[in-house]
Amino acid sequence: MAAFLSTSDLFKNVMKTMKEAGEIANISPNALERLKTPRRSIMVSIPVSMDDGNIKVFTGYRVQHNQTLGPFKGGLRYHETVNLSEVAGLATLMTMKTSLLQLPLGGAKGGVEVDPSKLSNHELEKLTRSFATELGPFIGPDKDIPAPDVGTDSQTMAWILDTYSSESGYAQTGVVTGKPVEIGGSLGRDSATGLGVVYTIEKALETRNENIKDVTIAIQGFGKVGLHAANEAFALGGKIVSVSDVEGAIYNPEGLNIRELIQFSHEKGSVIGFPGAKAITNDELLFLDVDVLAPCALDGVINSINVNNVRAKIIVEGANGPVTANASHILNSNGIMVVPDILANGGGVVVSYFEWVQDLDWHFWEEATVRGKLKSVMYKSFDKVWSFSKEHHKDMRTSAMAVALLRLEKALKLRGQAW
Ligand code: NAD
Repeated sequence: MAAFLSTSDLFKNVMKTMKEAGEIANISPNALERLKTPRRSIMVSIPVSMDDGNIKVFTGYRVQHNQTLGPFKGGLRYHETVNLSEVAGLATLMTMKTSLLQLPLGGAKGGVEVDPSKLSNHELEKLTRSFATELGPFIGPDKDIPAPDVGTDSQTMAWILDTYSSESGYAQTGVVTGKPVEIGGSLGRDSATGLGVVYTIEKALETRNENIKDVTIAIQGFGKVGLHAANEAFALGGKIVSVSDVEGAIYNPEGLNIRELIQFSHEKGSVIGFPGAKAITNDELLFLDVDVLAPCALDGVINSINVNNVRAKIIVEGANGPVTANASHILNSNGIMVVPDILANGGGVVVSYFEWVQDLDWHFWEEATVRGKLKSVMYKSFDKVWSFSKEHHKDMRTSAMAVALLRLEKALKLRGQAW
């Protein structure tokens, strides 16, 4: 494997879990060898003529990890820390996620090394269109289908769709998912990842004979994942005692009114200052004595250094890689269940798949249909991982990866790509 691929902690953590899961599930060394390295890593320069008249060149990436089960699928991230190794780790996780969730899709991820908050809307549009042009030969409804991630949204997807369709000469709505409903998006896509997190919380609680109505929940991050997770859990009667964003966290042991908080954060640009809640730090949120902790912002926030401060009983990974592989082992031995990212935040890619199917069919579903089908996939996937975990006496992270690897191994063997 090229050495530069394995420089990030996220990539190393994914490889570690894959190796452990491969041993438990007795996956053939050939299959594992293939899955260790992405199929294609694309790195592009994106020159943008900025509003001040100067040219600035940004670096963009798309890593297409594996397409054994179907076209590549995965988000695009705009963040100043984006790098090839991290994108490769996230692309590998996408392959595992689509496999675990029984979708006919492979795994990819991409991003641009940029702080989007420092660019005007006009600059962001130019950046996105140039990036889409560079990626043009490699993406497409039957090749590779990007979606939003950190720092990108439905507008970003609309610009990519428009650029790709203009260059093809006809409307190709299936080239991206997570786009606005008016141009081929799916109802229920915005809230899908957060809703999936909540379905996972329900299932994790069920294993302890508990109900979401009777527990306390803390959620780190109030973006596309965290906000909807909070909103959906609140709608089911869950008591969300703490949430946070990049500015810090807020805490109210009596529970936060999430409907009012969403309104407040839209108006003020942050959750900080919400009436009746005490300001705490993002670290303090992670160490609260709650039933469920859902880190829905960044990777590596729970690690070997701080893991013993965690007091939650269940951790549900809304973000990708928020708990490191080592920390996960320590939490498991402390009796804390960690529901891993490839299961817990899979709701986004499940509804992306539904969106893609609707686009290819030119036929769109009611939101209740989307939610019902999502619930069924999330519940079934949880049950599969839980059964593997009970049968093999293994934690949920290793079990989820093992279930994903078993499906991939079968497909690789059938296609003659491994034996
Ligand atoms: P987002 O950009 O919409 O939101 C991120 C949130 O994290 C924001 O509230 C931001 O203020 C907060 N944040 C940023 N820096 C922080 C810090 N230092 N401390 C605490 N909070 C901080 O991103 P998102 O789409 O919600 O993605 C969050 C995570 O979920 C990422 O790991 C992403 O890969 C993963 N994910 C997203 C989706 C999706 O559908 N959007 C699907 C699967 C996984």
